[in-house]
Amino acid sequence: MSGVDETHDPKRTSLVESANGHSDFPIQNLPLGIFSPPGHHARPGVAIGDMILELSGVGALLPETVGHLLTGNTLNALMALPSADRVALRRRLSELLSDPTHREIVEPLLHKAADCVMHLPAAIGDYTDFYVGIHHATNVGALFRPDNPLLPNYKYVPIGYHGRASSVRPSGVPVVRPNGQRKAPDEDTPTFGPSRRLDYELELGIWMGQGNELGHPIPIGEAREHIAGYCLLNDWSARDVQAWEYQPLGPFLAKNFHTTISPWIVTAEALAPFRIAQPPRAEGDPAPLPYLFDEADQRSGAFALELEVRLSSAAMRDQGLPPFVLSRGSATTMYWTMAQIVAHHASNGCNLQPGDLIGTGTLSGPDESGFGSLLEISQGGKKPLTLPAGETRTFLLDGDEVTLSATARADGHVPIGFGACSAVILPAV
Ligand code: CA
Repeated sequence: MSGVDETHDPKRTSLVESANGHSDFPIQNLPLGIFSPPGHHARPGVAIGDMILELSGVGALLPETVGHLLTGNTLNALMALPSADRVALRRRLSELLSDPTHREIVEPLLHKAADCVMHLPAAIGDYTDFYVGIHHATNVGALFRPDNPLLPNYKYVPIGYHGRASSVRPSGVPVVRPNGQRKAPDEDTPTFGPSRRLDYELELGIWMGQGNELGHPIPIGEAREHIAGYCLLNDWSARDVQAWEYQPLGPFLAKNFHTTISPWIVTAEALAPFRIAQPPRAEGDPAPLPYLFDEADQRSGAFALELEVRLSSAAMRDQGLPPFVLSRGSATTMYWTMAQIVAHHASNGCNLQPGDLIGTGTLSGPDESGFGSLLEISQGGKKPLTLPAGETRTFLLDGDEVTLSATARADGHVPIGFGACSAVILPAV
């Protein structure tokens, strides 16, 4: 299997005990991030079990091309390197964290993750959100156009819009309910106030690696090489604001008030064993135009990722009730691959840069057990769901906490996870 090496060996264990059997961060994962130990400034680290290894301390032991890049408070410079350099870093980290002879070097550089603060892993120059979850696009389209849910461009164009990089925050930062113009269908004029239909969207995020020069597209066959890694992404959405403002130019204030991501970059290299074929298109669907079609991408451009969304209300937490599972799905519901998203984005010559963030769009399953937003679960607010404490929800209330999670699984490999992507809703100001 392409890109699979000794770092993915299921028999490899870590000298950091908590990593062995860890649901997110066993030694086969080694995600990169920026963290602050208690009372200290931000720095690069790698998650290993319940601990974080401080990378600046092992810089001299790492490959020359990357060792000197691991001292700042962003990973943009590392992301700008070719994937071969990330592979070299990964192999060395795997060795340092598995071979007990390195214990004396490694142990003083370990921090308890629970005591640390996570930051954004990169200075995000631009954030773009796509719409490639075909079930989500169909479900949302059906709320507006029951007979014709997908517009004619959907199966030709990976649909996207430019989001707002300044309001992306790591997991754990609370989301303040946005104010905005709301106009219900039966109201003549809008009012300004707190959103009454606040929602989440389950998405994956793509971290751009090496960019492209303005005017020089990224060919589909090379697009994979430009992706540094992946994260979970929650595209919080004020549905009432969205419904009123979106015509004719699309989402604006309904979505740019806050975006939550999981703070660890799960590298493209870590996910190599979990690559699978892109599911075939439905019979009668058009083939992708040539600039979006690549045989190798079709053979291995999708990922075997299990996705889950959980909700806990303030009352549930007060009563000690566990979070309620809203949905379980998979990442195979993407109509376009990650490489197609990147190739399309750069196809007009638009320059992508290391550390740019791209959302896939909401990833809903084919039935309600896998719907990736409350808009779909509640059928546009018509069908409330009942939570374990007896409360009902159509959209999110203040105090609600939404958590996204993702686990990559493949036979013969140790599963790896993305870590937390979670935030609580605070009242509007
Ligand atoms: Ca979205």
